[in-house]
Amino acid sequence: MDTTLEHPVVLHRAAPAADAGSAPRWRVEAVQALLDLPFNDLLFRAQTVHRGHWPAGDVELATLLSVKTGGCPENCGYCPQSAEFDTGVKAQKLMSVDEVTAAAQAAKDAGATRFCMGAAWRAPKDRDIEKVAELVQAVKGLGLQSCATLGMLQAHQARALRDAGLDYYNHNLDTAPEYYGDVVDTRSYQDRLDTLAHVRAAGISVCCGGIVGMGEAPVHRAGLLAQLANLDPYPESVPINSLVRVPGTPLADSAPIDPLDFVRVIAVARILMPRARVRLSAGRQQLGEAVQALCFLAGANSIFYGDKLLVTGNPDVEADRQLLAKLGLRGRDVAAGEGAGA
Ligand code: SF4
Repeated sequence: MDTTLEHPVVLHRAAPAADAGSAPRWRVEAVQALLDLPFNDLLFRAQTVHRGHWPAGDVELATLLSVKTGGCPENCGYCPQSAEFDTGVKAQKLMSVDEVTAAAQAAKDAGATRFCMGAAWRAPKDRDIEKVAELVQAVKGLGLQSCATLGMLQAHQARALRDAGLDYYNHNLDTAPEYYGDVVDTRSYQDRLDTLAHVRAAGISVCCGGIVGMGEAPVHRAGLLAQLANLDPYPESVPINSLVRVPGTPLADSAPIDPLDFVRVIAVARILMPRARVRLSAGRQQLGEAVQALCFLAGANSIFYGDKLLVTGNPDVEADRQLLAKLGLRGRDVAAGEGAGA
């Protein structure tokens, strides 16, 4: 991916809804310049872009069901589901169609319109895809949108999931290419890009973001954001995670990111990808209400909520609803899965 193309720092592009197919291309230096803006200037720009593309106060509420937990052969340094790390997570088999259908029905009864399934695989086998296709069909049969995060996909697997009715696929870039090898070495950055290309080519909507607070330098945050914005088109959903430092993982002792730097990442994501859902994902509970409020001001318009985000904790639903009410934001239920894990 070429990140060297010049792009001016724009205040606001009044782009039509279809502009996700003609995303501008960004240099890392230009993204860094945005991250380095005076804080109030950055938030003003981000909120202006946000108001130009989204209804004010609309926040998507997303939940995720882990349909196959733990035992993953990858070594992503942030992830408690890797079999390489002693984190106390017990490996579980893929849930049955009946179990997933019951969970999806419960989500629908609670007002959800979309249901996502996460599975801790490096790369599903074709027989795994067949089973997940059954789960997707069951979810679709309830009248829900479907999404999944299953690891690396081959082109024919993406098409099989599309044929089963899959609407969204989550696959994160995690960080900048230059820092990726410090986080995981069982797969390459190009592997990630290839899967995203297969998903896009199959006609499935893309959910793709990353994680900050993994010991990366500021330029790596700029590099991640440039990579995301330079995907063509850029993702429909962009989950931004703040590392949850899980004991037993290699990144457990990482220095936490300054909360205001996290807000800056959210703001720049909004500026670079005006029509993407920018999602506060893992690590939100570490931020506190005031910082979350700044994230909404910076253009976040989706949050993970509920008791679990894969296997890390998340603030409970009621506390989230109270926070949204305090801020005058309108939560909109979807049970969506973009943003964590594979
Ligand atoms: S992030 Fe996904 S691929 Fe990496 S170890 Fe965890 S479950 Fe496996």
